[in-house]
Amino acid sequence: MKDKVRLIQYGEKQVHAINCPACKHIHIIAVDFAFKNGAQWTFNCNFQKPTFGPSIKLTSPGYCCHFFVKEGEIKYCNDCTHILAGKTVPLPEFENISEGKKPKQVKQKANPLKKHTMTKLTEKQIEKVAKEHNLETALVKSVIKVESSGSGFLKDGRPKILFEGHIFYNNLKKAGINPNPLTKKHPSIVYAKWTREHYKGGSKEYTRLDQAKLIHKSSALKSTSWGLFQIMGFNHQLCGYTDVKSFVIAQKESE
Ligand SMILES: [Zn+2]
Repeated sequence: MKDKVRLIQYGEKQVHAINCPACKHIHIIAVDFAFKNGAQWTFNCNFQKPTFGPSIKLTSPGYCCHFFVKEGEIKYCNDCTHILAGKTVPLPEFENISEGKKPKQVKQKANPLKKHTMTKLTEKQIEKVAKEHNLETALVKSVIKVESSGSGFLKDGRPKILFEGHIFYNNLKKAGINPNPLTKKHPSIVYAKWTREHYKGGSKEYTRLDQAKLIHKSSALKSTSWGLFQIMGFNHQLCGYTDVKSFVIAQKESE
């Protein structure tokens, strides 16, 4: 039996992550420490048949995912806004997902109204996140797609990252370094305008980050989105931040 819980790095600490088959991304759970809002859970230390307590509730405006994890199953409460509200399903195993297979789908009668509302909200959320991070909506969408079909992790267990050369350009400026000569020396690491052409994806993004760290470490770290886009975009309230932006800032500061 494969693990249904995974430990992931969260700043200097570790959090437990489970795959939510309703939201199709991971949710993080603080066991060894409390999130900023004081939220902390107990865990039976069984990675194959996990039980966490109490319930876990994630909300964004108009969206709610609320569930219990008990003996390897995820029991969704009735206040969920997604189609698994009120259902109990097995928690997806992690390894299956990192191999690129989709989590097992649960056969159920679709509720067209709820499905429609959810799609609409997700679109809205994507636009909001894109706007806040000054990114193209299409890019944010593609990141979400990558991460919901994969697991948000590389095969070696590291979280997927994306190094943003245009953000690095601005961060260097803020750090008092003139980025312009560097754009010629390192054209795929430092550039003034966003472009997708320099993204390498996978572990190669770590190579880009390492190169950037040699130029200016803290600016490089600040210019990296820590793969788990879903944490930034959807999990922020659980972590005690009121909006995506302050969560992202805090994430970056913790590096
Ligand atoms: Zn969920």
